[in-house]
Amino acid sequence: MSSALLNSKDIKAQALRLGFVACGLAKAEPVADDDSARFLRWLELDYCGEMDYLRHNVDMRLHPELLVPGVRTIVSLAMNFMPESQQPAISLYAQGQDYHDVMKQRMRQLMETLQLEGRCFVDTAPILERYWAWKSGVGIITQGGFVAVPGYGPTVFLGELFLTSESDHYDNPIAPPPRGGTGKGVCPALTPEGLDARRCISYQTIEHRGPFAEEIRLRRTFYGCDRCMRATPQFAEAKPTDEPAFQPSEALLQMTPEDWQDLTEEQYRALFKGSAVKRAKYDGLKRNIERWLEAMPSSEATDSGSSQE
Ligand code: SF4
Repeated sequence: MSSALLNSKDIKAQALRLGFVACGLAKAEPVADDDSARFLRWLELDYCGEMDYLRHNVDMRLHPELLVPGVRTIVSLAMNFMPESQQPAISLYAQGQDYHDVMKQRMRQLMETLQLEGRCFVDTAPILERYWAWKSGVGIITQGGFVAVPGYGPTVFLGELFLTSESDHYDNPIAPPPRGGTGKGVCPALTPEGLDARRCISYQTIEHRGPFAEEIRLRRTFYGCDRCMRATPQFAEAKPTDEPAFQPSEALLQMTPEDWQDLTEEQYRALFKGSAVKRAKYDGLKRNIERWLEAMPSSEATDSGSSQE
C-alpha cells in the first residue's frame, strides 16, 4: 500500500476533464451483509441464466481485497452514453463504439496523469458495479435496478479503479436503495428479488446462445432492450453525450428492416467494427433479426415507440 493519501478533489476534477460525468470514492471494504445476501439469493434463484461467470469468484465479488490485494479505495466512474441520434433496432448503449475500450482508455489516462497505483476495471471482473456506484455517491439505484446519475439519468456506463492508497475523503450514498420490488408492472422479468435474466429480452438477445424459446417476442429492438430503463422516472434526465465514440455511424442510422433482413456477414463486420454488438456474433444477430421481423406487423416496421413484449 502506498502511504500518500489520495487527493479526492484532484481525482474528481481530472475525471470530469476526461469526460466522465460522475466520480465517487468509497472505502474498499467487504460488500455490506444485506447486499451480499441479496446477490447470493439472486444466484440461488438461477436468475443469472446461462451467465455462469456470475457464479464464479463469488467471494471475490463480495470482498474487493481478494480481487486486488492491498486495495484501499474504490473509485467509481460514470460516463454518459445517451446517443444524439438512434438506430431504433439497437439498444441505446450499443449504438456507438464498445464502451469497454473507450472507458478503459480514459481510466488508464486518469491513473497515469495522477500517478495512481492500482487497477482499472470495466465490466470484466467480479465486481458489484452498481453497489460501488451507489456506495460512492455516483448515483441512486432506481426501481428498475439501474444507477441513475443526477442530471444524466440511467444512461451511463460504469467503471472502477481499485487503488492501493487511502483517500483524504470518502463519499456517501445519495439515498438508500429501494427495497422490495423493482419496476413492478413494467416487465415480468423484474421481480422483487431482482432481474430474472432468463425472462429478459436484453439477456436473450445478447447472452443467450442457440434458438429462442417459443414465448420470446422482439418488437422494438433486436439487440438489447431499453423498455425498463426508459420507464424509470430518471430517464427524463438523460441528455445526449458529448462523447463522439458513443454516437452511431451514418450507415447504422440508415439501416431499415429490409436492410436488416438481408444483412450479410461482410456488412455485419463493417457495421459493427469495434462495437459491443459483436458479442452476439453474426449468427446470433441473424437469429434475433429473424424473430424481430416475425413479430413486426408491416405497419410497425418503422415505429420506434412500440413495446418490446
Ligand atoms: S424491460 Fe426489457 S431489459 Fe427490462 S427487464 Fe424487461 S426485457 Fe429486460
